[in-house]
Amino acid sequence: MADGVTPLPPGSTIGILGGGQLGRMLSIEAARLGLRTHVFEPGAEPPAGDVAHTVTTAGYDDLEALAAFADSVDVITYEFENVPADALDLLGARRPIRPGRRPLAISQDRLDEKAFIAGLGIPVAPHARVDTADDLAAALAELGEGILKTRRLGYDGKGQVRLRPGDDPVAAIDAIAAAPAVFEALVPFEREISVIVARSLSGQVVCFDPGENLHRDGILHTTTVPAEIDEATVAAAVDIAGRIVDAFDYVGVMGVELFALTDGSLVVNEVAPRVHNSGHWTIEACAVDQFQQHVRAVAGWPLGDGRRHDDAVMTNLIGDDVEAWTELATRPGVGIHLYGKGEARPGRKMGHVTRLV
Ligand code: AMP
Repeated sequence: MADGVTPLPPGSTIGILGGGQLGRMLSIEAARLGLRTHVFEPGAEPPAGDVAHTVTTAGYDDLEALAAFADSVDVITYEFENVPADALDLLGARRPIRPGRRPLAISQDRLDEKAFIAGLGIPVAPHARVDTADDLAAALAELGEGILKTRRLGYDGKGQVRLRPGDDPVAAIDAIAAAPAVFEALVPFEREISVIVARSLSGQVVCFDPGENLHRDGILHTTTVPAEIDEATVAAAVDIAGRIVDAFDYVGVMGVELFALTDGSLVVNEVAPRVHNSGHWTIEACAVDQFQQHVRAVAGWPLGDGRRHDDAVMTNLIGDDVEAWTELATRPGVGIHLYGKGEARPGRKMGHVTRLV
């Protein structure tokens, strides 16, 4: 078992909560290092199941299955952010959880996350807590046009309503089923960028080069590296990411999404305490990619060389985009990744491609 000091030797097992494509790519990189993964996932036939050494199919309320899972692994990590607190209590009493409970708990709640980041002196969007239509009316009057976001369980633009002054707050609250929420002023950003940062058990911090992200329908469409930002902005983004992981005493990879404004200033949109879709380009463009960097960190290994040796564009294959796989597979300079998911439903991430440029 991981003791907090000694690197886990090859042959050790990393437990992963969640069996989606991130767990799949983590398992592939773990295998490259001679490490095994054991995936815990409630859903049948998880994408990670094709490549993990062991899969447990059970719910996060199945205490017996959770205990057996914990006892079979050396360290536990997660690729799924909404693991219930009770499950984490049980797991954490048996094995180290990396990146840890605190970053997970704080990033599960948009309001707590903003408070934490703002508390480090890092800018976030002007925002207000919203529990009722009256709160929303007041926030809209104070902050102007913005986005109502549920505090919990929102991803890929889900659980969000855009509002202008004069819009009906009651209808917006109904649209999110009166869930606890936060209203954020619209940030007039020039670009969206993200920094994939890694921190080791001994506190070493390394960042991949910031990527520039384009979204379609609230879902990441492309990440391009390098981002078109000047050196000072790169340095500022990397500094912000480093301050956040240090403040969490973080171990592993984190995705930090930022808005870059025309004056060069940066605002943190959100953080994800895990490997991140906007870091998939690192597989083709770096000697050590985000998945291996995460595996190294949680296994207590030194971090690897994440310098970018090529420029790259990563494009997600959403829904039936994946049907072009035969054509994509013929393109030069393109790495193709399919996640082994059965049905290409609209909005579902089925794979991605990275083109080196
Ligand atoms: P989120 O789920 O918070 O990452 O939001 C999804 C996308 O909506 C972001 O990547 C932005 O494109 C846009 N967005 C979210 N919040 C804001 C904001 N405060 N101002 C402007 N655009 C935003």
